[in-house]
Amino acid sequence: MFFYTNINNTTTRVQSFGLHLKLNGTLIKAIHDKKRSWGCLPIDNQSSGVWRKIVRCIESIEYNNMGIHQLLNGVCGDGADIRFWLDIWEGDSSLKDGFPRLFRLKKDKKCSIKNRLRMTDSGFDWSWNWSRGIQQGEELNKFNLMYNSIADKRLGEGMDRWIWIGNTSNMFTVKAVKNGMITGQNLSDRYILQWASWVPKKINIFMWQMVMDRIPTADALKVRNSVINDDICVLCDESLESTSHMFCSCGVASLIWYKISTWCKAFPFFVFTTKDLVEIHNHVQIGKKERKALKGIIMIPCWFIWKERNDKKFANNNVVVESIFQNTRSMGYLWYRNRKKNVSISWKEWCRFELM
Ligand SMILES: [Zn+2]
Repeated sequence: MFFYTNINNTTTRVQSFGLHLKLNGTLIKAIHDKKRSWGCLPIDNQSSGVWRKIVRCIESIEYNNMGIHQLLNGVCGDGADIRFWLDIWEGDSSLKDGFPRLFRLKKDKKCSIKNRLRMTDSGFDWSWNWSRGIQQGEELNKFNLMYNSIADKRLGEGMDRWIWIGNTSNMFTVKAVKNGMITGQNLSDRYILQWASWVPKKINIFMWQMVMDRIPTADALKVRNSVINDDICVLCDESLESTSHMFCSCGVASLIWYKISTWCKAFPFFVFTTKDLVEIHNHVQIGKKERKALKGIIMIPCWFIWKERNDKKFANNNVVVESIFQNTRSMGYLWYRNRKKNVSISWKEWCRFELM
């Protein structure tokens, strides 16, 4: 199922497993887009009819334990169609959900990116329209955080577009969604990954794909009858590239796990399979809070290992273990501090793995 949320256009196109519907966007907006309707798709709860059924259907579909609408991210073109606060275009949640306190202060809650980003003599500049001034302290901190995350965004040419983050190719296919839904329902022979809520969704999804051996390593591609010219792991240049090798037994991975275990004050990890990796937090002698943090921390270097592998394979960049570790610690800190509820931790405490 795929949908466009830019119902300001004359028509909204909905494709539902091959069923193509053309709906009058202006009409839907007039009926359903109430003044205080902040959802991904507008819906008047008092109404009935086709549109309500479509929205309820979309909201009920889960793909790998997530709402299907959460897996479509906006990519900024001219900024006219992506709603600044309500759509997902920076990070993996809407700015409304990421910064609810700031959202409450906004006058025009349904504004587009284009409404907020304007061209000035010195380049692009963000404009704001608050109901009152931002207060010092927590409010200002949140504003700075949000601003830093979007400061380098620029308007481009052409219309805004939407990408699918449910797989590594960012390509939406009905088949991929069907498979995701089927595997999500079939619990008998599939591994159910415990999500780490403070880690971005795309990394959780990557981990799930890794455990399911769906990362396109040389070994996995061979199994799917692809012709592979170079099947040696580019991280170590020694062994056949497979998921378990790259993330567990490869020299690069081993060094990273050693550094992570030392940082987290745990015994050195011994991991032989990707499943060992995602369950390691259950077997270390550390506190409950630390274990929960470790569950998410383990995911981050996996994401960076795959990124480094691609950079090395396709751009011949050097692989530096220390930078994977440092990136893990700094991004981990950013996400843990800002995405986990009721957490107050300094960078020094994080580096000493002292979770209050
Ligand atoms: Zn290797």
